[in-house]
Parts: sequence; structure tokens; C-alpha cells
Amino acid sequence: MSMINVTLPDGTINEYAEGITCTEVITDALGRKHGCLAAFVDGVEKDMSTKLSSSCSVEGILSVSEEGIHILRHSAAHLLAQAVTELYPGALPTIGPAIERGFYYDFKMDPITEADLKAIQKKMQFLAKQNAVVERIELNEEDLKSHFEHNPYKMEIINEKLEDGAGSTIYKQGEWYDLCLGPHVPNLSRLMFVKLTSVSSAYWRGDQEREQLVRIYGLVEPTKDALQSTLKNIEEAKKRDHRKLGKDLQLFHIDEEVGQGLILWTPRGSIIRQELQDFISFHLRRQGYSQVFTPHVGKLDLYRTSGHFPYYQESQYPPLVEKDLMKKLADEGCSCSELANLMKSGDIDGYMLKPMNCPHHVKIYSSQARSYRDLPLRLAEFGTVYRWEQSGEISGMTRVRGFTQDDAHLFVTEEQIAEEVLGCIELVQIIFDKLGMTDYRVRVGLRDPDSDKYVGQSEAWDKAEDACRSAAQSLGVEWTEEEGEAAFYGPKIDFVVRDVIEREWQLGTVQVDYNLPERFDLSYKGNDGEMHRPVMIHRAPFGSMERFVGVLIEHFAGKFPTWLTPTQCHIITISEKHKQYAQEVADLLKEKEIRVLVDDGDDTIGKKIRTHRKMQPAYMVILGEGEAENRTVSLRARNGDQVSDLPLDQFIDDLMAEISNKAPQPCLVPSQQQSED
Ligand SMILES: [Zn+2]
Ligand SMILES: [Zn+2]
Repeated sequence: MSMINVTLPDGTINEYAEGITCTEVITDALGRKHGCLAAFVDGVEKDMSTKLSSSCSVEGILSVSEEGIHILRHSAAHLLAQAVTELYPGALPTIGPAIERGFYYDFKMDPITEADLKAIQKKMQFLAKQNAVVERIELNEEDLKSHFEHNPYKMEIINEKLEDGAGSTIYKQGEWYDLCLGPHVPNLSRLMFVKLTSVSSAYWRGDQEREQLVRIYGLVEPTKDALQSTLKNIEEAKKRDHRKLGKDLQLFHIDEEVGQGLILWTPRGSIIRQELQDFISFHLRRQGYSQVFTPHVGKLDLYRTSGHFPYYQESQYPPLVEKDLMKKLADEGCSCSELANLMKSGDIDGYMLKPMNCPHHVKIYSSQARSYRDLPLRLAEFGTVYRWEQSGEISGMTRVRGFTQDDAHLFVTEEQIAEEVLGCIELVQIIFDKLGMTDYRVRVGLRDPDSDKYVGQSEAWDKAEDACRSAAQSLGVEWTEEEGEAAFYGPKIDFVVRDVIEREWQLGTVQVDYNLPERFDLSYKGNDGEMHRPVMIHRAPFGSMERFVGVLIEHFAGKFPTWLTPTQCHIITISEKHKQYAQEVADLLKEKEIRVLVDDGDDTIGKKIRTHRKMQPAYMVILGEGEAENRTVSLRARNGDQVSDLPLDQFIDDLMAEISNKAPQPCLVPSQQQSED
């Protein structure tokens, strides 16, 4: 028997007899408790039982790795199908992939309900305990077809996917088997910690014309603790869901009659947005930005120059044609496709809802002759743009069709890029810090060194990439460089925030651009008297106000810091008699621009508190006999903690300080280490 060399991740090379399995190699290297459920053989995922036939590298895959959890999920889908077919003998498995959070499997079977999931889950756990070995078996086409002749769905896959005469593999556990390429866990005891979460319906191949199927979703984790923490995070995510909180707290509304993905900011949500905009604007002014306003539409010609039209048409609302022209074309019997062609070719003009603010800002730059003394020119606008997201992709405030970017365009010289990128980054840091979003990472998108699709000169790119790198470095947070992730027109920096339940949200970006100044032929007169081309920096670090506020709602679980809370104080009277004092307190607070709501109605104090806490004010100000007499207030915090007999003047002063300092959370009620939540 011949020998092979197996290279381990630490560089060790061991010699083994040909035919040794991954399990044996890994056990030899790491001991019996290695915990791996599959292995990379020369970088390709393989089963632990794979026999090695030539020299190669072997690296174990742990269930906690990204690949490992994927294999675990996919294996759990098989187990689900085994359990369902044992419990429902007529059920036909179709497909069952791993997905982002868990797995699902689609079955042709009579409908079931959530109540049925318990028995299926129990069956899965029973089968996992039996701990059957999962076996990979190669079959030729004929054998394959005879294994699945009872299942038209699998046959359809086999007939489509396999070239004539080619075989494939099945994975067998006990008597049950499925068509699959693998890899899978070596045995079923790996799948003890499963939880079936929901059942819904789906169409075979996602096609509404085809058969309706039953889809069962589930979760699987390598340990009991991990499963519990995943379930807890899902519960927490549901509570924090900005679509639910947005409704409960009356922050925004989406109305089918207005249109999908178009956000109506209600008065309370508008307060949050306005406060944020004011906060960002303050720092923009401090950094020397100029505020501009531009319209929501622009001519097609503008976007022909910028390159947004006719490219990217599928992600935009269709163009608008001028009224007179429309009538003329209609009279001539022009068809829709002729109209589209005329627009594409530039033979007729029209307008477009703006998909980007950049071309408008470019026109402000070029409205005057510019010299090096004007640079850097920093134009900022909370600019609303429109993109045609597919209706299936639209979700709450985070995926919408109309949104307002915290946009700005900086027109700079080559030498100014580094400092200006740094300035953009500083702004992000200030704002994230104030909002307590301390867990974020940064991705620097660089060009692919092997591609020539990029505009601009290579030395200029080197400099700009260095600028992005050192700016990212300066943040002192986790950052990565990603080759090939730059746009064709310049390198960029992306911000990804991680929330308390470890979900990641991509927010905005800072982007260097060598392309638009070229397309619009922008120039400035240098101090050498010659004309030069400026470089543009696009930056919208928080993405859009819609997305940012959506993320913030979930980040704070609706419990905003006082400065962002829509109604900061809800004043509640104990009885009719304290109406007048309540009004007086409210007037004093309003005078200081504190947002107040008064409830001097007849309900009991207990009922009033229960009603008002749903709206998550920073404070409930409770006023009764003692308070009115002594000109004091009693405060109740969100968690139910209370403090009484605060002198009114002191309360107002402290509250104003808390708001102007943008304190991370309301802090006028000392914590009593108890919580109602
Ligand atoms: Zn499989
Ligand atoms: Zn831009």
C-alpha cells in the first residue's frame, strides 16, 4: 500500500497509508474529542468518512464555524425529512436547504399546523438519540432513479441536474436516504438540539403555477446553551422589531394607498428624525460643510451624463415624460416600447425621480468657476432619493423605495483626500459614540489588482486606498480590507453596526470617486494657474434617515435617550384637584422646549401609568397633593423606579442638562436595582 503526506493547519506533515479517513487523521492530530463534524480536504468541504487517496491538506470543521453550522443545519433538514416521512407515510420530501438562521424542508403532503410540529420535533430528537451513522453512497443514474421513482420531485431534479449517464450521491441514515451532494454530520447525535419554529406553505420551485407544498422551518445548534441563546435572541428580536415598535409607539406609517416602501413619518417619528438631523447638521457646520437643497427630479440628460440612465433602469422608477410631448406621442400612436426606446436613445427627453443626489450637487459645483481656494467644497443635503426595490424585498424602514440620505459631496484636490476622508470618519465616530453604538466594524473596499475595469490612475488609487486604510485604522475598531470590493470609480469605507443581539446592520459609506468629475468635466484652477480635475467624495455614513431610525428603534428597543424621545415627559395628575398645577408645570417645561403631554383625566393613577408607559416617555411626572403644595414633582422611570419630592426648579434644570448633554439614557431617577421588564 502506498503512503501519502497529509498537511495539517499548523504546517505539520504526517505520513499515512493511502485510504486513511479524515476522522482518523483528525483524531490522530487532535485526540478523540476533536469536535469536528466535517473537514476541508485541500480546501473543499468533505465528510469525515472521506478516504484520502493522495497527498493533501486536511483541516477539521467545527460546528461553531460558519461552514460547520451550515452543515449542521443542512443535516437537520435531512433529519426533519426523515421524521416527517416516518410520521406521515404519504409525505414526499422535495428540497430542504440550510438558511441564514436555521433550515427548512418542503413536503408534498396534507396541510399541518404548528400544533403538529411538537410531535415531529420529538421524533427528530428520538432519531438523533438513536445516533444512526450518516453514510454517503455513490449511485449510477439507473440506481439513483430506482431509489427515487416514487418521488416525482426528486425525479425532476435528477432529470434536470444530471447529465446523461452521470450518477450522483445519496446520504443514508438508517433506512432513510435523500438525494444530496453533502457533506453531512458523521452521525445523528450531533443533531440533538433542534427546535421546529413554524410551518407555512410554498410552491414547488417558487412557481405559483406548480404544486403547493408544506414548508417546515427549524433551528439547530451544536449545544443546548447555544440553542437557548438563539431562541432568546429571536424572542428579543421580535420585541425589538422596528415594524412592531414603530406602530406601537406611533413613529411611522406605511399606507398601501400611498405606495409600498414609502414611509410616512408621523409626528412622533418626525421628532426623532428632526433631532438626529439637527445633531448631524451641527457637526457638519462645525466641519465646514455647506447646506444645499435640490429638487426631487432631474432631466434624463443629466443622468445620461452621470451614467445612471439608461443603466440601472431596473432599480429606478420609470421616467416621466413631459405633458405636451406625451400627448403628441399618444396622438401618433407611439407604443410603450417605442417610447422606452426613444428615451434610451436620447431622442426624447423626460424627467426622472432622482436615484442619487450627486448629479445635482455636481451642477452646484460647476455653476461657478472654481479655484483651489474654493476647495475643499463640501455640499451637504438630507436628500430624498427613489429606488425601485422589488416588492418582495421591501421591509419596514430598512428596505424602502423612497429615502432621505444623510448625503454630502466633497470636491477636493488629490492632496486633500486623506484629510477629508478622516473628517468623514470623525463625524461617524462622534455620532455612534453619542448613540451608544460602540460595537461596529469597518470594511475598506479596495480594487482588485488583477482587473482593469477601474477609472483613474493607479498612483492616485494607491494614495486614496491608503487614505481609506489609515482613516479606518484611526477609529480603533475592528476593520478589514476587502480586495475587489471597491466600485469601479474609487475605493470606499462601509460601516456595519452590530446590535445587542448580535445582528449586523450595514449603514452608510464614504466613497472616493474619480469618475463623475470626469463625466461632468469638472475643473478648478490650481495655484500653478493650470486647470485641474477635482476628486469627489460621496458620503452618507448613516445610509438614510429611514434605515438609521429603523436600526435605532431596534437598538434602543423603543426606549430612546431623553433627547430623542418623542414625548419626554408625560405629566399625570392624581386627581382633578391638581389640574392647575399640572398645567403650570407643563407650561414651564414647554417654555424650555421640553416635549410634554398632560393627562389630567379621570382614570385612576394606576390605569394612567399603565397606559402611558406603553409610549415609553423618558419620565412620567406624577403630581398630587404634596407636590402641588410644595412645588415639587415625583418622577417615575421606564423601569418603574421612582423618586419623589424633587423641587420643580431643580427638576427642570436637571432635565435640560440631561437633554443638552444627550445623556445615553434618562438618569434623573436613581436606579433601585429593580425592574418591571
Ligand atoms: Zn443533504
Ligand atoms: Zn453621491
